[in-house]
Amino acid sequence: MATILLCGVELFLRGKLEALLPEHRFETADGIDPPDVVIADIARVDPDDVADTYPDVPLLGFTNHTDRSCIDVCPVDCIHIAERVLVIDPEECIDCGACEPECPVEAIFPEDALPEKWEPFVRINAAFNESFDVVNALVESYAAEHDVQNVPLDQR
Ligand code: SF4
Repeated sequence: MATILLCGVELFLRGKLEALLPEHRFETADGIDPPDVVIADIARVDPDDVADTYPDVPLLGFTNHTDRSCIDVCPVDCIHIAERVLVIDPEECIDCGACEPECPVEAIFPEDALPEKWEPFVRINAAFNESFDVVNALVESYAAEHDVQNVPLDQR
């Protein structure tokens, strides 16, 4: 049995992990014996702090944030909520850049600075002008291809 320390992990995800890994012990408090693995939501806790506290323990970082402050700052209301992602309507966006610093996981880029690995999301955002069904289908396809495990936004 491994001891897994959860840092900043929501109850929903803790329940999922416990169901998936019933043979392991999950802890959320500091001060236990050194864990075998640390799982941290790096949108909620600083991974450097965790690494400093447990320098010899493998750290698995992920993000499960539901921050939507980008929507609040958009002056033309062109950021929309699909099933598993937020999408920017490229026809309505005025490229003001107000949303970029609001994103806690730096997921918004000017089109000419988009890292190559996120290229599929150009098509996903453009699909907003077809329908949410198309957006959601493209996201599901991307998630299956890349083994993305995040739950739909309305179930968090
Ligand atoms: S860059 Fe586009 S999506 Fe972002 S806040 Fe400005 S108009 Fe809205």
